[in-house]
Amino acid sequence: MKHEFVYSTSPAHIVFGEGKSATTGEWIENIGCRRALVLSTPQQQADAEELAALLGHRAAGVFARAVMHTPVDVTEQAMETVRQTVADCVVSLGGGSTTGLGKAIAYRTDLPQIVIPTTYAGSEVTPILGQTERGVKTTVRGASILPEVVIYDPSLTTGLPVAMSVTSGLNAMAHAVEALYAKDRNPISSLMAVEGLRAFKTSLPQIVQTPQDLERRSEALYGAWLCGTVLGTVGMALHHKICHTLGGSFDTPHAETHAIMLPHTAAFNALAVPDLLAPVADIFQGPVGGSLWDFAKNIGAPLALKGLGLSEADLDRAAEIATERPYWNPRPIDRQSIRALLQDAWEGKRPA
Ligand code: NAD
Repeated sequence: MKHEFVYSTSPAHIVFGEGKSATTGEWIENIGCRRALVLSTPQQQADAEELAALLGHRAAGVFARAVMHTPVDVTEQAMETVRQTVADCVVSLGGGSTTGLGKAIAYRTDLPQIVIPTTYAGSEVTPILGQTERGVKTTVRGASILPEVVIYDPSLTTGLPVAMSVTSGLNAMAHAVEALYAKDRNPISSLMAVEGLRAFKTSLPQIVQTPQDLERRSEALYGAWLCGTVLGTVGMALHHKICHTLGGSFDTPHAETHAIMLPHTAAFNALAVPDLLAPVADIFQGPVGGSLWDFAKNIGAPLALKGLGLSEADLDRAAEIATERPYWNPRPIDRQSIRALLQDAWEGKRPA
């Protein structure tokens, strides 16, 4: 039967538009709060300070020590600042790392979160928190983890370096590609995935040419919202399993790993579900894996895992871990075929 699905909507408020980060103070009040702790990475501290100044008495302080993979010790330091400043909500200004810290605080305290995303990773619209303790990464899901308000303001993304814009965009696109064949997909998640892919197909090449173009930045951020939303609503498969394996066990960088793997995992699954991935072939005008690889190459994305510091000898172990406790996948997997797929991605080969 064509139509058989479960559809649940997210309770979050999504605010979209140029300059809308200036409404953060109103949103703090709208959700019944008074004093926000503003979070950022050290690299974005100046932006966080500027936002706090704009918030005036609604800012409890700035904690600018967010780092990749949400280490628990950093969360504990931030919790101490929450207590000292008597903050009653958090505002996370940044990419997935800063959003992760806000989620980690909310998970422990139930404090409401407002997120102002400045990359395309999509974490702001998922109820998922990945955190690390003594080098081990664990993932939790929960209603308190999903941010209450997300403010997408493209004017805060013009400074995202081109190379990061490209890999972050491909990271988001990977959520959409996997959503198209997710076991629990629904008509809305598939519509959002296709629209998200279209948004990146048009915006990323133009961002590479003119990074300051607000219209294109807005289109990419719109894509990020769509792709992030499907990541938060349907299950992910082989692609995310391999990226979690490489990032978790071999410490490869998050967005770059997604960018390199996407054409390979999409080509692998296209053999099993060509109909479900037909929109990808249509949007990128060619065979699923090959056309995604061409698109990535044309916008200057990294193409080979060997460029990320992964050695060829690591591939056996990576294939073993990725197939040990696999996520559901539309095409059956075995260690040998995943090892071959990793070899191609390591060498940077164009998939057929
Ligand atoms: P990031 O947040 O680590 O940002 C990378 C760097 O870019 C940081 O130094 C940041 O300060 C800087 N930066 C961000 N936006 C900028 C801008 N507009 N201008 C200038 N510099 C900017 O990178 P990311 O790829 O967004 O996030 C990766 C992390 O997010 C990983 O830990 C990943 O696991 C997590 N993630 C989680 C989910 C989820 O649903 N839980 C989803 C996606 C990603």
